[in-house]
Amino acid sequence: MDSQPCHRGRLGPGHPDAVAWRRRHAGCTGVKTAIVTGAARGIGLATTELFVEAGWQVAMVDRDGEALADAVATFDRVHGIDCDVSDPVSVEGMVEETLSHFGRIDALVNNAGVADFGPIEETGFDRWRTVMATNLDGPFLCTQAATSALKETKGAVVNIASISGLRASTLRVAYGTSKAAVIQLSKQQAVELGEYGIRVNCVAPGPVRTKLAMAVHSQAIIDAYHDAIPLARYGSEREIAEAIVFLCSEKASYITGQVLAADGGFEATGIGLP
Ligand code: NAD
Repeated sequence: MDSQPCHRGRLGPGHPDAVAWRRRHAGCTGVKTAIVTGAARGIGLATTELFVEAGWQVAMVDRDGEALADAVATFDRVHGIDCDVSDPVSVEGMVEETLSHFGRIDALVNNAGVADFGPIEETGFDRWRTVMATNLDGPFLCTQAATSALKETKGAVVNIASISGLRASTLRVAYGTSKAAVIQLSKQQAVELGEYGIRVNCVAPGPVRTKLAMAVHSQAIIDAYHDAIPLARYGSEREIAEAIVFLCSEKASYITGQVLAADGGFEATGIGLP
């Protein structure tokens, strides 16, 4: 646990002044708070689990309300927020609700993402916009909305990109472009927000057997990844979460503007994506 909360004079959740109390005591409650988007399953769920194990409080954010409710029920010290990260109004409300509930934001993990594989000529504008809206607009909007609170804590942001953002390939015109943009977004944010003590880094995972990946990875792609990755396997959600939580922690206090490829060595090979 990072530190113990100060419960002195704490008002119960039903009390009319409870929100104001939490805001007033944001600096002294001591328990660090993370927002994790796309937390209902996959890498976001594993990241939540690691934060909770480390003693953090977590605002678990997802647009899949049913899956979110199931996931929230498995943890202590979390609060579920139904939010579409591509919608500015929804995002503003999500940050407000996090502050009302926990009083502070120490880390923001922009993890919510969607995949879309297809040839350029078959990638209609609606599919392109859907990918950009969640994968690129989402991290922009969430970081913008949380910046004021992150200034107060000198907090950290981790944006989740992909090895598809580091290497061009066939079939990933929308997904790969969105993830390359997330890498540049992270560098822009790191340079501009550094003066407030806010660190921004990027994790670029290799393949992980989540619902997102398995919807688009054919057996041929799976076999090719096994051949191409030096560690000769897919990663686990937990292995990606370890990199994310490290970059949010004090142990990474002098690291900002970096892209950490958690990919079994794939990026180092120089081989193209399957
Ligand atoms: P997943 O599909 O298992 O989980 C993604 C979660 O995000 C879901 O719960 C979904 O409901 C939520 N989500 C999607 N769009 C949303 C929106 N607009 N607003 C709020 N929530 C939304 O996927 P995952 O594999 O765990 O992926 C997590 C992140 O990791 C994504 O950004 C993905 O691009 C990236 N990534 C995954 C892999 C992989 O192989 N799995 C590889 C590289 C990068």
